[in-house]
Amino acid sequence: MAKSRVLQQWRLEDSIELYGIRSWGAGFFDVSDKGEVIICPQGKGRGPQVSMMDVISGLKDRGYDMPVLLRIENILDSRISRLHECFRKAIHKLGYQGQYRGVFPIKVNQQQQVLEKIAQFGSKYHHGMEVGSKAELIAAVSQFCDKEACLICNGYKDEEFIDLGLQAMRMGFNCFFVLEMPGELDLILERGARMGVKPNIGVRAKLAVKAGGHWTESGGERSTFGLSPAQIVDVIDKLKDMGMLDCLKLLHYHLGSQVPNIRDIRTAVTEAGRLYMELVAEGAAMGYLDLGGGLAVDYDGSHTNYVSSRNYHLDEYCTDVVEAVMTILDERDVPHPHIITESGRATVAYYSALLFNILDYSVVESGTLPETLPEDSPETVVNLKEVYNSISLRNLQECYNDAIYYRDEMRQQFSAGQVNLRQRTLAEHFFWAIIKRISQEKSRLKHVPRDLEGIDANLADIYYANFSVFQSLTDSWAIDQLFPVMPLHRLAECPTQHCIISDITCDSDGKIDKFIDPQGMKSTLELHRLKEGEEYYMGVFLVGAYQETLGDLHNLLGDTHVVSIRIHEDNSYEYVREIRGDTVADVLSYVEYDPRRILEDIRAAAEAAVREGRITPSDRFEILQSFEDGLRGYTYFER
Ligand SMILES: *Cc1c(COP(=O)(O)O)cnc(C)c1O
Repeated sequence: MAKSRVLQQWRLEDSIELYGIRSWGAGFFDVSDKGEVIICPQGKGRGPQVSMMDVISGLKDRGYDMPVLLRIENILDSRISRLHECFRKAIHKLGYQGQYRGVFPIKVNQQQQVLEKIAQFGSKYHHGMEVGSKAELIAAVSQFCDKEACLICNGYKDEEFIDLGLQAMRMGFNCFFVLEMPGELDLILERGARMGVKPNIGVRAKLAVKAGGHWTESGGERSTFGLSPAQIVDVIDKLKDMGMLDCLKLLHYHLGSQVPNIRDIRTAVTEAGRLYMELVAEGAAMGYLDLGGGLAVDYDGSHTNYVSSRNYHLDEYCTDVVEAVMTILDERDVPHPHIITESGRATVAYYSALLFNILDYSVVESGTLPETLPEDSPETVVNLKEVYNSISLRNLQECYNDAIYYRDEMRQQFSAGQVNLRQRTLAEHFFWAIIKRISQEKSRLKHVPRDLEGIDANLADIYYANFSVFQSLTDSWAIDQLFPVMPLHRLAECPTQHCIISDITCDSDGKIDKFIDPQGMKSTLELHRLKEGEEYYMGVFLVGAYQETLGDLHNLLGDTHVVSIRIHEDNSYEYVREIRGDTVADVLSYVEYDPRRILEDIRAAAEAAVREGRITPSDRFEILQSFEDGLRGYTYFER
């Protein structure tokens, strides 16, 4: 009775709040009146809207199984525009004399289509690229040709890397060699002299400030990259001796990624501003100040300085940065440099979502408990029943301890052959019934004992999801990063199940059991009861940054399908690019198998079976056909 009332009263607003979609969605994602997640590529309340369920249905008609990584191209455009517009506004408002030059750090998403789109759309803003290796440099040079945009070469550079950068300069690219280590300078000067190209040189500074957050190990005095103040002085002296101080044009630092606290960002800019001023005073040409990455994404929507959030908006970031640089340089009338940022995460995170279906579920079964115990019931079962009957608000902790004790005792007795399978099962039923009761009762306690805090998670349903955490959500597995996860439909219905999500690898780490919550984090996610014969679709959002290239082949689950859509003003959309995910043959070849050789080996085994009289020749034909189809198939669960 009580439950059905809750169901009736559930409104769309409740789902919006529960899943936090308006907090983390940055206006790009919302819920329709039909209770489905919609995409609003121009932001909140503006422009066209498309239901993700319609996109999925279109994919199904085109023969795609889940999982699919969906890229929404317009969102990428919007992010690049916003970054530039915000800097433009701040620069204009404050009367700053330099310009903003954004660059995209390729390592954040190296996929060809992503670079191509950034190069195309970014050209009107002279959005450049940042590269950290030879491969990334070659990729960048092949994808963009804007000579006003910056091409920043970070990373440890060998002779070939430097030569490639110098060749790019000969073609007119505005290329900078950023010194990560003092030893690189000689090589750059030597190769430049040999090729007759005067290199643009930058220095990466180790700042004293170290920001808080998950990924900020690259900052601070002990960071592995960058030059100390003393090493920077050596670089200046060497260039001065050679009469080449006019090559030193850029100061760079990188605090680390996802810096949640605006205070750290401001402190770093201030320190770098001082350093910049000193370089100018030493006679270096300068002109560019490169603040690296760090601009954070509010994954949990809490707008705090928690690691998966940020306590500032883009406007504020831009204003603070421009203002801090200006304040310092104006002290000594130093001309304002062009400001470069290398924002990767904030540029691409929003534009991809991982779509998947739920294949099955399992619940904690406490079965029906018998009124009277069978006569031969062991002492332990009798004790568990007593514990069950004695539960009250006052003895929750005690009952919990007893339940654990007797359950463990029962398991030992089973191993020792003293109880049978049915007796053990009965004990488990009582055990889980006790845990469920404790979980219900504890919500009435003012102070929940530590031991009891986590028990809800043990009672959670497990929803089996058709994807691999290792392949598609690497950071969720590796460093417990939170991503927003939610159902894509049925949002007008009350989600009655408390769940954790397990992927289809058979690894116990292949799961999501931490979810965003306005109060920090929660260990279960509310989802709807699965309906017989109806797919349940979910999405993991904001996965455009870092997840794609870190993925691995756990259990030989390969790349998912990747589909890009572009949404038009009239709410229509087209599937602009489709990349089929790995086939079974593909992933096998990554681990040194030759699919043709595999078929040959299976053919030989089948032929042997024919000779032994196990199968007929036409059975053999059927068997080989199955294996050939299998090799061509998707590595994920196909319906
Ligand atoms: C990784 C990296 C970035 C990107 O940082 P985000 O926080 O993703 O914007 C920028 N610059 C350098 C040098 C990096 O190593």
